[in-house]
Amino acid sequence: MPEVILEMKHISKTFPGVRALEDVDLLVNRGEVHCLIGANGAGKSTLMKILSGAYVRDRGEIIFNGEPIKETSPILTRKRGILVVYQELSLVNELSVVENILLNNLPGGNFKIDWKTAHRLAGQYIEQLGVDINPNAMAGDLSIGSRQLVEIMKCLAANSKLIVMDEPSATLSKDEFNTLMRIIATLRGQGITIIYISHRLEELFTVGDRVSVLKDGKNVVTKSISETNVDELVEYMIGYKLTTNSYKSGGEGRKGNLLEARHFTTNKLKDVSVNLHEKEIVGLYGLVGSGRTEFLRAIYGVDKIQNGELYISGKKCIPQSARHSIKNGIGMLPENRKMQGLVLKLPVWQNICMVALKRFRGRVGLNYSRIREESRRFIGDLDIKTPNEMIQTVYLSGGNQQKIILAKWLMQNSKILLVDEPTQGIDVRAKSEIYRILRQVTDQGHGVIIASSELEELTNICDRIFVMFQGRIVAEFGKDEFKDSVILQYAVAGR
Ligand code: ADP
Ligand code: MG
Repeated sequence: MPEVILEMKHISKTFPGVRALEDVDLLVNRGEVHCLIGANGAGKSTLMKILSGAYVRDRGEIIFNGEPIKETSPILTRKRGILVVYQELSLVNELSVVENILLNNLPGGNFKIDWKTAHRLAGQYIEQLGVDINPNAMAGDLSIGSRQLVEIMKCLAANSKLIVMDEPSATLSKDEFNTLMRIIATLRGQGITIIYISHRLEELFTVGDRVSVLKDGKNVVTKSISETNVDELVEYMIGYKLTTNSYKSGGEGRKGNLLEARHFTTNKLKDVSVNLHEKEIVGLYGLVGSGRTEFLRAIYGVDKIQNGELYISGKKCIPQSARHSIKNGIGMLPENRKMQGLVLKLPVWQNICMVALKRFRGRVGLNYSRIREESRRFIGDLDIKTPNEMIQTVYLSGGNQQKIILAKWLMQNSKILLVDEPTQGIDVRAKSEIYRILRQVTDQGHGVIIASSELEELTNICDRIFVMFQGRIVAEFGKDEFKDSVILQYAVAGR
């Protein structure tokens, strides 16, 4: 009989307006690779955050190594031997690999760090995983794949018994992915238990022992990997029998009077073509790692394409830089708005006019009173909740910050807005406000391409939806063809 290392029982968790988990059970055996799968929003990350102590459960029991866990916090969990490697990695960019690996476990005492030992230990972990990483490199200079390896070495340094990997493969290259598979096998061989979250079902069959499926915050099934197959797992994830669809992925002949991206190809994208008309909101749906963000970044010119053509208002352009795209009338609301879209320390008005500054250049420098007046107009138009335009942006709520980014592009009069996960982490009211504004903007003749993990969000506001799967467009639907189950199947199975 396999020995159980982790028992999560009757776990429930509600966020304002969202029931993320309902009476979920998870049983993990010692030394196994236990896969956890489910579509976007199924509750996988929430379950793992409850395990790690990042979230507090509303209800339920956790038993680890035979001991009930009452109090949790990330530090306590780490001490118990559980470590979660999140999608959003947690390395300190300014520190070296060695420092990051041993961050929570630096050897030494009496306020002195024993660097010699630190380097020896880090060297051991690097060897243990058989990877090629310079221990003195700065974490910020590493590729995503290497950063992930450093996270895993952090787990080893913390002497973890159970390592959770939350969609580690979503952003990896082929080589990095193969390394990860090898490392998982190595760790398993050393008796470490792994919970492995992924949408890429084929890969589970290389690494997994068992698999549990979540759907809409509820348990569906737990199975031995050897007793199931990809189609069956897809059916558990979408909740019905796979149907045969006859959609042909076209791409040719898609005209768009605002934008046409043809045959975009990068490391992550394969021949992606999308078009956009005036007054249109076009959605990109797909599971995490399907290439939505990469595609938007490629259009915007911050990621280089190896192949493909871009037409803006019928004119051929070469996507080459953000500066260039802005000139061509493209604005981008990035996924991680706190890091990429705003300077939080600056007052609201400065963020709003950041891109459009040139327009306010008079004979004697910038016309500040006009800038402030324009900013106030947008604050009013978009109903941005702030006492005035002088407040530091950091003090506004997420929804209002998001509106500031929108205002920034509207002030610049960008015809095309690329929007990546606009409503992540903002409350229900702010969400519907953002939708309203996007519609208001397109009514004035703009076009919007919006990537989202939330299907309902897209079916509510989009005129058309493209579905991405493993870097390709696998389907396109017009408004009268939207059917959640069909769209979900394409996103999960690619057919
Ligand atoms: P998965 O990892 O399977 O994609 P998540 O656990 O991230 O799913 O999300 C489950 C549900 O809970 C989703 O509907 C998501 O929007 C919601 N959710 C997750 N975290 C939060 C949060 N911090 N605040 C509000 N809702 C959240
Ligand atoms: Mg997740």
